[in-house]
Amino acid sequence: MVKEMHITVPVALHLDHAQSVERCKEAVDAGYSSVMFDGSKLTIEENIELTKQVVNYAHDRGVSVEAEVGSVGGNEDGLVGIVRYADPKECLRIVEEANVDVLAAALGSVHGPYKGEPKLGFSEMKEISELTEVPLALHGGSGIPKEQIKKSIELGHAKINVNTECSQAWAQTIREILINDKEIYNPKTILQPAMEAISDVVEDKIELFGSSNRVTH
Ligand SMILES: [Zn+2]
Repeated sequence: MVKEMHITVPVALHLDHAQSVERCKEAVDAGYSSVMFDGSKLTIEENIELTKQVVNYAHDRGVSVEAEVGSVGGNEDGLVGIVRYADPKECLRIVEEANVDVLAAALGSVHGPYKGEPKLGFSEMKEISELTEVPLALHGGSGIPKEQIKKSIELGHAKINVNTECSQAWAQTIREILINDKEIYNPKTILQPAMEAISDVVEDKIELFGSSNRVTH
């Protein structure tokens, strides 16, 4: 799709939360530009060792690698986790020893809807960003207040994952269409506005993240 559609901006094709080295290699071979190895459930030693294997394979093929330290809470596509803050020393170790390009340092964010106001660890964020000097990735970016998003960007986040808000916009649109029109049955008529609703969310996020008109060729 990426190669054949005439898209005028650079496209990153990213594999999220792969839990095996094999899966990452498959994505690299399939043409992904970036992969994430999620070894957050392993010991830091194992996490570093397996991340290193992914990095060796990916970097040889011009593909970037994201690692995770600590644990993102919540539930995303069956990926269940408890919140466990990233340890700054472990973050530095994985960046130096495995040579990753991007780091997902879990600091209180969750996949899926937040129960109450999100509380991100900004002092830890600053410490980890200054210590590791790599761009950070924020998982569970849906439902985080704008000010906290802006602060996260100031403190080193260069990649923000937003899934739940997109899915919610899609589901809410379809729900309204079906409830409001009992006669409707054509999938295209039902699905088209739902896709546009996702598009609107993405547009808002591009503005909020300061990514508008930032394309460099
Ligand atoms: Zn995630």
